[in-house]
Amino acid sequence: MSAITCSHVEKSYGATTVIRDLNLSIEEHEFVVFLGPSGCGKSTLLRMLAGLEDISGGEVSIGGKVVNDLDPGDRGIAMVFQNYALYPHMTIFDNIAFGLKRQKVPKAEIQQRVEAVSKTLGLDPYLGRKPAELSGGQQQRVAIARAMIKTPKVFLFDEPLSNLDAKLRNHMRVEIARLHQSLNTTTVYVTHDQLEAMTLADRIVLLRDGRIEQIGSPAEIYERP
Ligand code: ADP
Ligand code: ADP
Repeated sequence: MSAITCSHVEKSYGATTVIRDLNLSIEEHEFVVFLGPSGCGKSTLLRMLAGLEDISGGEVSIGGKVVNDLDPGDRGIAMVFQNYALYPHMTIFDNIAFGLKRQKVPKAEIQQRVEAVSKTLGLDPYLGRKPAELSGGQQQRVAIARAMIKTPKVFLFDEPLSNLDAKLRNHMRVEIARLHQSLNTTTVYVTHDQLEAMTLADRIVLLRDGRIEQIGSPAEIYERP
């Protein structure tokens, strides 16, 4: 069954249309990458999947339900942003626990889940620190931990590695691929980096000017004669 469906999705800002009649079906457990040059509409489309952006026309469904009809907490989605979006005054523990605290999850369970997720991502030594005391890669891991702890059905990543140096980027790319496998989620990942797309994607959605230019496996897109 399809995890995410876009049906005739349109997005305009005033007179400017940035997504045009976009149709797409993403299967459960698929890793889909939105690839394309800056300004082609990748982030806008991802934010519409997340329900963070109003849709000007058409419909986005997640798990068979229209996304705008769902309560934000019930969408089963977690998003990781390029700039990490951590709370600077909170400890790493509290950053990771934030969503669970808001859901009034019991304290003991929060403690146990934060520790489990932190162990998976190698963050356990840093739980008492503030974000500014961590490296970029560690901060990105906190952002991923905060998303993971919600046990989402769908993981959305918006250029998560752009602010990291090349070595960390390679390392985190492998980690993200491993997390997708082990958590068995559906993942949608936005990048303008062809290497990231080719190494991560089951399918690449190549966007240009708000339309799908091409869609297929990395081999179908890059190894055509
Ligand atoms: P990408 O992620 O591919 O770089 P975006 O989705 O961020 O592209 O942007 C697509 C287009 O929509 C761009 O031309 C951008 O200028 C425009 N855009 C994005 N957000 C807004 C906004 N809030 N108001 C007006 N135009 C916007
Ligand atoms: P409260 O939620 O009332 O602030 P808690 O008993 O949940 O109190 O925890 C107190 C604080 O200690 C947390 O907010 C968190 O910042 C920190 N904390 C809890 N567990 C750990 C841990 N394993 N490592 C580091 N800091 C922790």
